[in-house]
Amino acid sequence: MKLLEDRIRRDGTVKPGDVLKVDSFINHQMDVELFEQMAKEFRRLFADRPINKILTIEASGIGIACIVAREFHVPVVFAKKSQSINLDGESYTTKVESFTHKRVYDVIVSKKYLNPEDHILIIDDFMANGCAVEGLIDLIHEAGATVEGVGIAIEKGFQRGGQKIRSQGIRVESLAIVDSMNAETGEIVFRDQPNQS
Ligand code: 5GP
Repeated sequence: MKLLEDRIRRDGTVKPGDVLKVDSFINHQMDVELFEQMAKEFRRLFADRPINKILTIEASGIGIACIVAREFHVPVVFAKKSQSINLDGESYTTKVESFTHKRVYDVIVSKKYLNPEDHILIIDDFMANGCAVEGLIDLIHEAGATVEGVGIAIEKGFQRGGQKIRSQGIRVESLAIVDSMNAETGEIVFRDQPNQS
């Protein structure tokens, strides 16, 4: 998506350790008008899928996921990160290794909000090694629901997440795929995606 790529080039910062900082429009301050354009693009890309729910993970996916949910006219559920699981049988649970914090979290969703008849679009801000998305897929499978696809704002294509999830036969649409980035020069190279606006 050209609009997002241009914004990343203008306002994103490449940090050491393969981290792209987009705090001024996604991860701290949020440009909701940009999110609206991104949501429309996800709607167009997944128009053929019978999506009835959006699933994301706290915290940084929630803002984008809300705007996407409004565009699809469906509810949004966010998986909660928790230090200790309350093993009361009322929740689906899995473990996720955080890319940014380098630690493992328990992640939970109440059984009330994921059902076998759900057709779910996963939304997140970034994909790096794919751990967050894999965790969400686990939760959906535990519930017996269907993964219709994964919509990511920014995929770091040089890390292994995208390949790992796509090789499971799951459709992943990322609005910007960074094929390489250089913390010294600030240069960012995006993958060509002719099917996107
Ligand atoms: P993964 O689970 O795919 O390894 O990492 C995805 C999660 O880590 C995202 O939810 C995002 O919050 C965070 N993340 C991964 N890479 C980056 C990055 O380069 N920049 C920012 N801001 N967040 C990232």
